[in-house]
Amino acid sequence: MGIQGIHPVLREMAAIFHEQGKQVFLVGGAVRDLLRGKAAQDWDLATDALPGEVCALFPRVVPTGIKHGTVTVLFKGRALEVTTFRTESDYRDGRRPGQVSFAATIEEDLSRRDLTMNAIALELPSGRRVDPFDGAGDIRNRIIRCVGKPGERFAEDGLRPLRALRFAAQLDFRIEEATLAAIPGAIPTTAKVSAERIRDEIDKIIASPLPSRALRPMEATGLLELLLPELTRCRGVEQKGFHRFDVLDHALLACDYSARTGAPPEVRLAALFHDTGKPACRRLGEGGVWTFYRHEEESARLSAAILRRYRYPNAVRETVCRLIAQHMFHYTGDWTDAAVRRFIIRSGEEHLDDLYRLRLADIYGTAGLEPPPDCLLPLTRRVEAVLARSRALSLRDLAVSGRDLMARGIPAGKRLGLILGELLEAVLEDPALNEREKLLEIAGRLNKR
Ligand code: ATP
Ligand code: MG
Repeated sequence: MGIQGIHPVLREMAAIFHEQGKQVFLVGGAVRDLLRGKAAQDWDLATDALPGEVCALFPRVVPTGIKHGTVTVLFKGRALEVTTFRTESDYRDGRRPGQVSFAATIEEDLSRRDLTMNAIALELPSGRRVDPFDGAGDIRNRIIRCVGKPGERFAEDGLRPLRALRFAAQLDFRIEEATLAAIPGAIPTTAKVSAERIRDEIDKIIASPLPSRALRPMEATGLLELLLPELTRCRGVEQKGFHRFDVLDHALLACDYSARTGAPPEVRLAALFHDTGKPACRRLGEGGVWTFYRHEEESARLSAAILRRYRYPNAVRETVCRLIAQHMFHYTGDWTDAAVRRFIIRSGEEHLDDLYRLRLADIYGTAGLEPPPDCLLPLTRRVEAVLARSRALSLRDLAVSGRDLMARGIPAGKRLGLILGELLEAVLEDPALNEREKLLEIAGRLNKR
């Protein structure tokens, strides 16, 4: 990395540090990405200046993590995280370092970092590389390796094993043997890590091109049993019929497919968890075939519990669970328009695309074969046609309101609700009925009954 490769904004910033006789280095993910030939996402800087001194150097500084020696400098339209050289000590609970003290040199700062590829610094503005653990070599050979003794590093922070596997999936790197071998021993430490930190890693695993590249080694090392036992329970649950794989392999394939085809995170999560209810719902049916009646409801229930456990936003949880609860639709050409409308209501019009994506992932996971490109076309065409013809899909789309009915002498209460429900049923059967006068007339008749 020569001086030409350093962004002008970083060079300008470095000049300000240098005027005060301070050092500054680009560190962390930005250096890793530069060495992989990828544009850096965001810039983390390390300096020997104390946080107070950094604040004095720049007019706009936010004390984002001042306890850990980090401030955010707003400079030339960018937000840069600047952290004073650190050492860490006292990792009592295996969570965040219990205590932070500042280090004298960049080398000492690099030695507290988790993986060799994350422990490289570029001095600014010279571009001189400081790489005491040969992280560049590991990046070249696509290897994920702990800085120092893996067992000790994992015992300091139980998130590190999960980070290592997450990076393996993100970058398609291999985990070095001793690093991998130290993961099972770190499980009790990982058990103490906060839900939010775990969730951020799950999100990054799901966002990677092939999530199973992390999820399979998670299973092999015991991390999956700790963090997502609902999935390990699917191991060995055979299905037969059209299925070639057990329930867990099926879920991993479905999740990989959704990631590979660029589906949104909710679909990826739904693909991973959509059959978690199967182990509890499996029965031996006629002719010795396994059945899984209503497993989609059990899967949705278990998935809600998982997503609550890791404090996912309500909106994410609701979408994922709805997709899972609705994933067992079976369209045939003899569905009436009313049946198509009910399908749309059940699924939620705004979730239809996601539900189709989940179905494609599910098909892929059955045999590991690409779904035929137009396999959903009969259904999607019907849905579009029905939507184009009538958008009267919910109570509030009816051409009459409860207020209209009350004005016609139907008192507010349970009876009014039942009548509105029947009007909606009638309109679902025949959208042409969705006119004010027609509905009022039907309501009058229903009220007399
Ligand atoms: P990404 O931002 O893509 O997740 P990153 O490497 O930038 O990757 P961050 O979480 O932003 O990861 O952390 C920045 C740097 O801080 C890392 O590159 C690593 O050097 C160090 N680091 C982060 N988390 C840990 C940890 N749990 N233990 C040790 N060092 C860590
Ligand atoms: Mg980062």
